[in-house]
Amino acid sequence: MGGTFDPIHCGHLLAAEEARRELALDLVVFVPSGTPPHRSGACSASAEDRYAMTLLAIAGNDHFDISRAEIERGGVSYTADTLRAMRDVYEDAELFFITGADAVLEFGSWREPREILRLCTLVAVARPGYDYEDVERLGEELGGAVSLIKTSSLDISATGIRNRLADGRGAKYLTPGTVIDYIKKKNLYTALDGELR
Ligand code: NAP
Repeated sequence: MGGTFDPIHCGHLLAAEEARRELALDLVVFVPSGTPPHRSGACSASAEDRYAMTLLAIAGNDHFDISRAEIERGGVSYTADTLRAMRDVYEDAELFFITGADAVLEFGSWREPREILRLCTLVAVARPGYDYEDVERLGEELGGAVSLIKTSSLDISATGIRNRLADGRGAKYLTPGTVIDYIKKKNLYTALDGELR
């Protein structure tokens, strides 16, 4: 499961769990982006802070794991490179790359899209109430498998959480308490420039 996780929230966690059940996955590996490829993916918190928050958020779920692949690799975090790294670690596994449908809508402009679809099934997680028909057409156009999962996820966004924190409203119940404690301790998201809101 890829994303900036800036910060990780209950929507991501619920989506991961629903994807795991729906696709009968053995394991969901969260891969926080090191340096996201798209400008829209610019991050407020550092890669290490986003990694730490993700680690705290997944604690206690034996079906969830985390990878430092994109953080350790350095440079821009391209999904094709990540999938090749995963292929080396999980040699015989069938791979799925799960991320937000918003991000998948731009899939045609990602680096090596056909190679990505050769290495995995791309899984787009849709927010409630949004129509992402175009996502399902992507697979046919690019000769691979793209699945859309309409989760019952709460309509929570990292942007919404950052705005709440910058405005002094809390994020209670939107992300696990351990993540809120970390955000407070590290004084994250207290002030944001307009672009990250
Ligand atoms: P992002 O800025 O974090 O997210 C973009 C949108 O997708 C946001 O609405 C976000 O919601 C949602 N989202 C992201 N990850 C999600 C997840 N795991 N579950 C549910 N919703 C999610 O991320 P991004 O920079 O667009 O990239 C998303 C993933 O695609 C990353 O793993 C990135 O490396 C990959 N990607 C690869 C390429 C490439 O290889 N060239 C290009 C673009 C993206 P929240 O804000 O609530 O998280």
